[in-house]
Amino acid sequence: MNEKRIYNFSAGPSQLPEAVLKKAQKQMLNYEGSGMSVMEMSHRSAIYDAILKETQDRLRRLMRIPENYKILFLQGGATMQFSAIPLNLLQKGKADYIISGYFAKKAYQEAKKYGEIHIAASSEGNDFSYIPKQEELLLSDDADYVYLCTNNTIYGTEYNYVPNTNGIAIVADMSSDILSREIDVTDYGLIFAGAQKNMGCAGLTVVIVREDLLGHVRKEAPVLLDYALQVEKDSMYNTPPTYAIYILDLVLEWLENLGGIAEIQKRNEAKAKLLYDCLDQSDFYSTSVCKKDRSNMNVTFRSPNAELDALFVKESSELGMCNLKGHRAVGGMRASIYNAMPREGVEELVAFMKDFEKRYKG
Ligand SMILES: *Cc1c(COP(=O)(O)O)cnc(C)c1O
Repeated sequence: MNEKRIYNFSAGPSQLPEAVLKKAQKQMLNYEGSGMSVMEMSHRSAIYDAILKETQDRLRRLMRIPENYKILFLQGGATMQFSAIPLNLLQKGKADYIISGYFAKKAYQEAKKYGEIHIAASSEGNDFSYIPKQEELLLSDDADYVYLCTNNTIYGTEYNYVPNTNGIAIVADMSSDILSREIDVTDYGLIFAGAQKNMGCAGLTVVIVREDLLGHVRKEAPVLLDYALQVEKDSMYNTPPTYAIYILDLVLEWLENLGGIAEIQKRNEAKAKLLYDCLDQSDFYSTSVCKKDRSNMNVTFRSPNAELDALFVKESSELGMCNLKGHRAVGGMRASIYNAMPREGVEELVAFMKDFEKRYKG
């Protein structure tokens, strides 16, 4: 049996902070003298309610979420929100979507079932290698919202600006970069994220929504997708993902203890720089991502050919650096270096990359 923990570069579900796993382990059988595991608690009990409230409060503090934004803990993954968003937010029936990657495109395809959905811009013609610029956006003045995905997990690009939408609410999929850098929540009407990338474990989706956007859900929408109802019931219309919320609480506690989002942002930028510097100094590795749109969360690159890519993945995995294979749509390699990836993991990867290059350079 392998006793040693690996460096897990998976895009998601991904590595969690060891301190979080240890605390969960310690509390597994008996949470704070309750005599039971969090998994065994009624979601309506006072003890569980305290966990839920603490999680909401921590998220509100860390992200500086104003009171007129509601925090929801839902299920169905980020993908469920691709449906919930048009079902709740379309009023006049129009929305603009910026297609910067695989998941934005999926969201667009789903939204088309429910309204008149325009593509404001798309980088698909260039293999999603960049983020559409402000000048490229063809925005409608009567859209109910503008949709975008702030970090493209598969291609490795990330927004470095917030589009000017002339006051129209921006809906942002932040599944793979939420909590990784400071943002101004008030730039957005709705933010959502599947928890399994940078927040915790699978099963939980966080939605942060500005109050005034609520109240227009379509009559035929499934009851669980009604944001206003979920706000009214504090995410407890039915059983919420109780244990996944608790894990999020532990992750947020870990983040607070290390200095909050400003501090993790510094660390994330430094980690990504190690990798990008290595790529820039090499004529062995290449990356197709436009330099100014590089993601600090998912770093995509390739070696000179597919055989060497496969060998890279195999050798790195044998050394305990796992899941570096790129998404099947892109090929090559992808290092996902979310908040929980320690700097040492990236340093080890860079050392391996340099060694691999030396051994296989033609
Ligand atoms: C992973 C991911 C999704 C899909 O998340 P699920 O929770 O599997 O539905 C959507 N958007 C982005 C940006 C992602 O990284």
